[in-house]
Amino acid sequence: MNILKFRPHLSDKGWFTRAMNYYFDCFFPAGATVCVEISADCNLKCVMCPRGGVHGLVNKRRGMMDIEIFKKIIDKFRDENVRVRELWLANWGEPFLNPLFPEMARYAKSRLTGAKIIAFSNLNCLMDPSAVMSSGLDRLEVSMSGMSQEVYSKNHVGGDIKTVLRNIAGLVSAKKRLRGAMAIAVKFHDYVYNKAEAVLAKDFCRRSGIEFKLARCSVSCVEGNAAFQKEKERFSGFYSRFIDLKKEEKIARTLKTPADCMIKCYMVTIDFDGRLYRCCGVYEEKNLMGSFFDHAIREIPGINSSICDICVKTPISWR
Ligand code: SF4
Repeated sequence: MNILKFRPHLSDKGWFTRAMNYYFDCFFPAGATVCVEISADCNLKCVMCPRGGVHGLVNKRRGMMDIEIFKKIIDKFRDENVRVRELWLANWGEPFLNPLFPEMARYAKSRLTGAKIIAFSNLNCLMDPSAVMSSGLDRLEVSMSGMSQEVYSKNHVGGDIKTVLRNIAGLVSAKKRLRGAMAIAVKFHDYVYNKAEAVLAKDFCRRSGIEFKLARCSVSCVEGNAAFQKEKERFSGFYSRFIDLKKEEKIARTLKTPADCMIKCYMVTIDFDGRLYRCCGVYEEKNLMGSFFDHAIREIPGINSSICDICVKTPISWR
């Protein structure tokens, strides 16, 4: 906040409390990270994603968030003075399938002062790159796992690497043309089989003037980890084709209680129709909680969900 611009009227007795709430919020001490699933559909079937089906987890909910729900979500954070540190436009779905993406990013940017607006995409589809570049989005992370179709499609099933690279080039040229500030990063999945292609991807990023980020991969989603622990022998063969299971086991840990989970303290995860998930790591529809609109936002970290009880007893490497 620019302190010189912050001149409360002397008759406004609540300004001090509101300002203190905003900056020293004991429920979201570093600000909330808000994950909004603007598209519950995906155009790919990545095998390391729970949607790939290895554990047969169930989530048949599909659909696009409409603009009115999106605006209501953003406005609720403003109305309740909850500071948003980061807004993630995507969880398990592909955000660019929602044609309202630029409008949503623009609205969030205009209403959530100081929030970083971030999207995660496989970039197999892209609307007008100029519209994305001028939407106010701060950062786009493109998920990739290879530079050749053969390697890329081992995980990114149904994707086309040439389309992804062409779409990155479209965004890079829109950025130059519009002098856009949006950061573009390739989030390259670090699998056991794609080290040589990671080197090529890094070089591609350097030449394109974009960021390269090597992402550690793990058994994804809470329910996927629980299923893996239950039938380790059955699934070890599958996972060892992608990740170093010994390393994964070394860093996986359990927690004493859900209260020990940091993610629970700072994350609000909202599905396309306004229903709540306990966090972005939960996948199955049976673990949905109530509506985001039925709670004060500061109540949300305290809501108990049985999936947290399962999660804390399960060794997980990313939590
Ligand atoms: S499901 Fe697990 S990671 Fe998510 S909030 Fe609960 S304890 Fe934390």
